[in-house]
Amino acid sequence: MLHKLFNFSGQIVFVTGSSGQIGTAISKLFLNLGAKVYGLDVKRKKIKHKNFKFIKIDITNELQTNIEIKKIFKKEKKIDIIINNAGISVYSRIEKRSSIELQKVFDLNLKSIINIIKHYLKYYKKYKLKNGRIINIGSIYGFLSPDFKIYSKGKEPIAEIYGATKASVIQITKYFAVLLANYGIRVNCISPGGVLNKKTQTNKFIKKYSNRVPLKRMAKVEDILTSILYLASKESKYVTGQNIIVDGGLSLK
Ligand code: NAD
Repeated sequence: MLHKLFNFSGQIVFVTGSSGQIGTAISKLFLNLGAKVYGLDVKRKKIKHKNFKFIKIDITNELQTNIEIKKIFKKEKKIDIIINNAGISVYSRIEKRSSIELQKVFDLNLKSIINIIKHYLKYYKKYKLKNGRIINIGSIYGFLSPDFKIYSKGKEPIAEIYGATKASVIQITKYFAVLLANYGIRVNCISPGGVLNKKTQTNKFIKKYSNRVPLKRMAKVEDILTSILYLASKESKYVTGQNIIVDGGLSLK
């Protein structure tokens, strides 16, 4: 049904973290809707589709990332949609948290997004584009503190630096929405709650997490995709600078 409502034929979509759980689903979504997708990730995941172009890259390397964006512009003459999806956390106890760990999360979750937007704007202006869309992936932990009781003992899975960078992602979404409105670029954010992943989460954790959610379950990747689709489509042409929270109501309590 989505295929009929939303058509992205001829559009160029740039997705970071395209080999991860959400990034793979985002890439496949746009491929199914007719777009050409450039997926960037440090690790390769095979997405078999004639319109999927994988770029193996560490996007915290600004120089290399700029080169890749430039190459895409040279070939395609445009990028219509940027999805800043790549994100990481650290799992050490706070007493053991190293500066290197802090830097790594900061560099990927925040700095790489600013750099990508910076270089995107440069070429967007050069190629005289219109109707650009940037979608940043935040997190409910950008504005909420985790309930540590639901996580395993002895671990601190949601690091302070993770939430701090995600709070910044929500903020820079607003900043760039205002700045880039002058160029016809809309910038929005999606903040998911915990996404179900049976490969990495135990049944005990899924149950404990779900019990805290008013809608009584964790997010499915599809729940995130429908919001992305809305923000990427012309149906949201008057929406910019927003943070759509997709958490089953968890942050309301
Ligand atoms: P994931 O770990 O499955 O995927 C992240 C991807 O980013 C991986 O493929 C990884 O290789 C890639 N990556 C890591 N460092 C990179 C680098 N330096 N350069 C390029 N690629 C790099 O994570 P996910 O669950 O799919 O999460 C995607 C986004 O959604 C993240 O920003 C995350 O913070 C956010 N989020 C996830 C959840 C969740 O429950 N999964 C909840 C809220 C927000």
